[in-house]
Amino acid sequence: MKINKLENWNLQESNPLIIAGPCSVETPQQLEKTVEVLVNNGIRIIRGGVWKPRTRPNSFEGVGSPALSWIRDIKSKYGVKFAIEVASPQHVEEALQAGMDILWIGARSTVNPFTVQEIANSLKGVDIPILVKNPVNPDLALWIGALERIHHAGIDKLGAIHRGFSNFNDEIFRNSPTWQIPLELRTRYPELPLINDPSHICGRRDLISQISQMALDLNFDGLMIESHIDPENAWSDAAQQLTPYALSELLNTLETRFPTT
Ligand code: PEP
Ligand code: MN
Repeated sequence: MKINKLENWNLQESNPLIIAGPCSVETPQQLEKTVEVLVNNGIRIIRGGVWKPRTRPNSFEGVGSPALSWIRDIKSKYGVKFAIEVASPQHVEEALQAGMDILWIGARSTVNPFTVQEIANSLKGVDIPILVKNPVNPDLALWIGALERIHHAGIDKLGAIHRGFSNFNDEIFRNSPTWQIPLELRTRYPELPLINDPSHICGRRDLISQISQMALDLNFDGLMIESHIDPENAWSDAAQQLTPYALSELLNTLETRFPTT
């Protein structure tokens, strides 16, 4: 794969790349309050779920399209970039129309080659970064296959997000990190930016710092971390979200790079 280097993605971002924001966009107020504090603490790329793939029905499934106009307002008011998940060509079309800066494919979509191919087809001619989360199951070939499908559609600002793998009896993590899988991906595609998502690995906020540090020690290129102004009352993933204040403290305590000499 011929990948465009992260430095050329025009994100004007820090090294490591930090993407932070709520699991789900819930209300205009929740979004703005969260973004305001994140921005005051130096975060320039916000994440937020618009369409949410929930495990069980009758959970909050995202605000959907109306959230896109709230995001547009926030982007112009705060000058931030915004990343959202897309799971269908319809999502891609709406997200592009609303001016989203980064799109990602979620773990439940990556497992399905039909879905990934449909999304890939809808991305032809698109020049924004596309990130592909690992599939929910620990299958490196499936992750690579999804990345290849997106790459074959002409996307060269391509990256991978490591969000851990489903398990039945891991006592600690919501999704086992199984670090050897992303590390093997990097061995095969050293030019592919690799971002760690400690929030979905941990499933609980007290572990996020240690997984983030581990990712940086392993030279990951960035972190995507969920942050919500009022995590306890979040409409999804309440146990793993950090307040923007706690996130800022956490980032300040991380050792970003070991000396290379
Ligand atoms: C998310 O990022 O909120 C999400 C649903 O993630 P995943 O696809 O990793 O489960
Ligand atoms: Mn989430």
